[in-house]
Amino acid sequence: MVDAGPGGGAPAAVGRVSSRSQAVGMTVLEQVVASLHDGTVEVVDLTAPLSEATPVIRLPADHGQAWPFKRERISRFDERGRQAYWNNLRMSEHTGTHFDAPAHWVSGRDLDDVSRVPPRRLVAPAAVLDYSREAAVDADFLLECEHVEAWAAEHGPLPDGGWLLYRTGWDARLHDPDAFLNDSHTPGVAPACARFLAEETGIIGIGVETVGTDAGLAAKLEPAFPCHWYFQGANKYGLTQLQRLAELPPQGAVIIAGPLPIVDGSGSPARVLALVERHVERDHAI
Ligand code: MN
Repeated sequence: MVDAGPGGGAPAAVGRVSSRSQAVGMTVLEQVVASLHDGTVEVVDLTAPLSEATPVIRLPADHGQAWPFKRERISRFDERGRQAYWNNLRMSEHTGTHFDAPAHWVSGRDLDDVSRVPPRRLVAPAAVLDYSREAAVDADFLLECEHVEAWAAEHGPLPDGGWLLYRTGWDARLHDPDAFLNDSHTPGVAPACARFLAEETGIIGIGVETVGTDAGLAAKLEPAFPCHWYFQGANKYGLTQLQRLAELPPQGAVIIAGPLPIVDGSGSPARVLALVERHVERDHAI
């Protein structure tokens, strides 16, 4: 173990040996802990803050609607509970940053509900594909197979058992629900690409910055909502309303996704964290 020092999680002071050079004799988890401690591994919170202002998907009027986040006070150091502050919550399984389980979609209706997702699959590597420039020009931008092939030629294959995180710059709109939902003009994935990713690669899911994994106009695609159709149908997952993907490298981050194990649930609000290795120069100062 590295001793804490006054800086807590700050990068190690000059002269302190790096976690890399301490690796001999340490267990793998001790190395991870030491790296978190000295800043060699940073934790990036990909989760959007959850509040009454959190944008929620809007469906046609004849559809059921997802509830936005709402809280009702139980007590706050008052006559209803002098020592306690706590709230009751009300929201949909798909409110805010959340996890889509296979059972969410008709194509995966007999597959895992969110409580049955193996914990092993909630800790996984990620590839980050950045199409924020394209989405800034065309809000209806769709990721195509050619984009993924070009990305892989530069950065290597998508991680087996990992996530494809699809950056579009949409997290910059999180504070403004109208701009975030953008009258259903939001980027997504073309049907052929969604099918390819779900059925012909080893990734376990797709994570996005938008309100859902599919494009805003995906009801008009064939099949409709192709990410939901193909990923959930392949017992794979979705993560939505992620932020700070710009702080992740194209390859090498490790994602920890934490949906609640709602029995028979179609999904769950989730805390999503990324572990990112930083190459801190610290041993050459003297
Ligand atoms: Mn969803």
